[in-house]
Amino acid sequence: MQEVLASPCEIHCISLPTPFPVGDVNVHLVKSEKLTLVDAGVKTIEAWNHFKNELAKLGYTPEDIDQVVITHHHPDHVGMLDYLSPELPVYGHRFNQPWITKNSSFFEHHDQFFYDLFSKLGVDGIILQKMNKLRKTLAYSCERSLSYEVKEGDTIPGLPGWTVLETPGHAQSHIALYHEGSRVLLGGDLLLGHISSNPLLEPPMDGEERPKTLLQYNESLRIIRDLQVKKVYPGHGNVIENASALITERLHKQEKRAEIVVDMLKEEPLTALQVCQKLFPLVYKKELVLTLSETLGQLDYLMEDDYIKMETVDGQWVFKTR
Ligand SMILES: [Zn+2]
Repeated sequence: MQEVLASPCEIHCISLPTPFPVGDVNVHLVKSEKLTLVDAGVKTIEAWNHFKNELAKLGYTPEDIDQVVITHHHPDHVGMLDYLSPELPVYGHRFNQPWITKNSSFFEHHDQFFYDLFSKLGVDGIILQKMNKLRKTLAYSCERSLSYEVKEGDTIPGLPGWTVLETPGHAQSHIALYHEGSRVLLGGDLLLGHISSNPLLEPPMDGEERPKTLLQYNESLRIIRDLQVKKVYPGHGNVIENASALITERLHKQEKRAEIVVDMLKEEPLTALQVCQKLFPLVYKKELVLTLSETLGQLDYLMEDDYIKMETVDGQWVFKTR
């Protein structure tokens, strides 16, 4: 059968500044039956002015935008929702909701989750300091609600041919938009060309069980690889044309890091924090949540495949080889 490659529509990438170490963030303007903005930058006047200038170069103003889709709840992807018309329909996964509405009971639950988890990982007094850091990044986020919740397999009005894929791991709320006819993906932070995306720790959104974010993330990557996506428009950095090869490389690199962790644990049993300190000796203090997310991801990965086991000693999790 002959392969049919339909053109998905016009996609314009607009890069916007952020105050975060990740650097610029991309938002995408998709011109189809409706003019759709995919992701919405950080909430800074600098980003907003930049956005308006770039829109003007394309012949648009913010008032021309018909709807917004957000790939996940991180501040660099949602902040400017506060500057856009409150009438604009906003689409996203339901797990965005407590973050973007700044739900105070959710944040209490969030802090308690991290307090309990970090104690088990071997972290002590610096926890509260880190929580303050989260609060600081939330200043760049928005305070508004989704208009419509979307889930796996959904379509969005005005975007014919595009389907929602649930791709958790980097965030529990993460989705991507896939155009099957042309195998083009609006990927959010699922796959970035120049850096690895981080499987960030988050509290459970449904039920009690902690999401194993690296396992989720690897599964999301495999789904994209199996689709043989031709082009990924990412949330940061340049368009990715070799997604399948890049995913294979990333999964391989991750296996290698897991092997390093097994070797460490062969020498002596360690807490997650001790593994983290050995994996990231220079950055773990400054980026504790990021590096512990990565570390616990590695440990989850090894536990899943039965390479290591865990015991609780004095309230802390101690990992050792089998
Ligand atoms: Zn993100």
